[in-house]
Formats: sequence, C-alpha cells, structure tokens
Amino acid sequence: MKRQLTKLLCLTGVNVKSQKQLENTLILEIERDSKKALCPRCNQSSSRLHQNHYSLIKDIPWGKTEVFLRVNRRQFKCEKCAKPFSEELDFVNKRQKYTLRYAQQITEQVVNSDLNSVAKRNNLTESEVESMIDQITQKILPISLKNLKRLGIDEISLVKGQGKFIIVLVDLDRGKLIGLVKERKSKTLQYYLRSWGEDILNQIEEVSIDLYKMYQTVVEKTCPKAVLTVDRFHVTKILHEELNQGRIDQKKTAADLESQQREKLFSTFKGGKYVLLKREQDLNTQQREKLLDMKNASPLIEVMHQLKEE
Ligand SMILES: [Zn+2]
Repeated sequence: MKRQLTKLLCLTGVNVKSQKQLENTLILEIERDSKKALCPRCNQSSSRLHQNHYSLIKDIPWGKTEVFLRVNRRQFKCEKCAKPFSEELDFVNKRQKYTLRYAQQITEQVVNSDLNSVAKRNNLTESEVESMIDQITQKILPISLKNLKRLGIDEISLVKGQGKFIIVLVDLDRGKLIGLVKERKSKTLQYYLRSWGEDILNQIEEVSIDLYKMYQTVVEKTCPKAVLTVDRFHVTKILHEELNQGRIDQKKTAADLESQQREKLFSTFKGGKYVLLKREQDLNTQQREKLLDMKNASPLIEVMHQLKEE
C-alpha cells in the first residue's frame, strides 16, 4: 500500500510512510528517501539527525479528495561545522503551505479564467491564489521549450482595478503555461525571453499578442523569425468598446441640441448597444430599422459599424 501510494504521489525522491483518510481528506505522511542532506554553509553531506519538523502541505486533489502531505522537513547537525540546518525540499518552497505543482495548477487555471472564480472553485481565498501565482512567477517548474513554435503572450490582472498585471507566456500548440513575468514592463519581458537562449527564440515561428504595443516591440527585438498575429478575441473586444463609446458620445452630443432634436437623437441611440454590437446578419427587422436610424443620425457610427462588421 505505501509503495503504491508513493508511486501514485509521483514526487521524486519521496516516500509515503503512512496514510490517514478523513471523509474527503487524505493525509499522507511523507519523507525524503535519502538519509542524508547537504549543509548549505559548507556543502558537507550529513546524516546526523537533529530534530524532526512536521508541517501540513496542500497538494493537488485526487478527484474530489483533498490531499495534504504531512512533511517531515528534517533538521540535521552538520558533521563539519556542527551547525544545525533544515533539509531542502524541491517540491515546496520554504514556509509555504502548498506544493509547487499545486500552485502551478492553480496558476494555469487563472490563466484560462480569472482569479476570483478560480479561488471560489478551489475553495481558496483570493490572497492564497495570489500568493501561489507569486511563487510560480519566481520558480516555474522545469518545462522543456525544445518544441516551442507558437508563443502566446497574454496577461492576467491580479487585483481588480489596481492595474497590477502579470504577463503570461503560453505554448499555443500544447496549451501549456511556460512562463510568467511579474511586471508588465518591456525590459522585464525582454530579459525573461532572452533567458530562454537564442536557439529557442530563433525557432519561434509565430507569436500571438493582444494589441498592447509594448509586446509587439519586444517580440520584434527578441524573436527574429516570428510572425506576429493579433489575438482575434482582443481585437473584437477593442472594436466593441470603441463602437459603444461612439454611441455614448453621440448621445452626449445630442444633449447639447435643442429640445425637439435632442429628444429624437436621444431615442435613436438609447438602447442601441446590442443592435450595434450584434452581427448585422443576425438582426431581426425591428433591430435592422433601429440600426439604420442610428447610422442615418451619425455618419461616424455608420463608418465604425462597418469596420466592426468587416
Ligand atoms: Zn556545515
């Protein structure tokens, strides 16, 4: 049983020593299988156990069962310098309550959704999710970039409305998160991409970005062979925003007119958002008339609507 659990857990160099099942929670007591650890001061390998330090670390759930690892981070006494030290564990950062692979999984969910709903779905607080993203930003698990051909650059917003962004790098062919850059700055992104090495950067054939100009400049500098494509979703979103703003502006202009004209223009644009943004071919007769009224009232709206349709 212990051996099977060790295999299932799939953490290199770690053994399951015992297990406890409580309702929807599984607790696995684990320990590194090596009886020795390296002293960080003098690099001497030591086997003199000084103290046991247990802590509970949350790991990836198994189906509906929450999994906690009871980890013994052993303290050794160095045989050379005689000072105590704690062993390094590569699957969890110091003083953290989550395994790195769990933090990575949560971060990937945020990339495909948003922070708030991921927190809810996984029964975590928003600040826990943020701290996980932060950990992963500092230490992304080893990922091979050997086959990277199509790179996607996107961003996630951390705190709503506070303008704090993290740049997300994705392997578009494999749908895998391959990097996180902790601030949306051209220098930081460039530095990060360059750390991949020239061979990788030269093999990238396509980079998909949103319309944020900074990304374009950085990609042109760092990925010489890549063709830039613009994420269709981003384009549509921006067009819609522009078009709707045009409608709102027209309404405001109307407010300055004389009362009779004003009433007429106002009612033309009132409630027109849906009609403007929906594909023209999907509109019913009544909606088409509304659209025509808006276009007749404003040449600007007419042009913008046409651009959107294209
Ligand atoms: Zn030492």
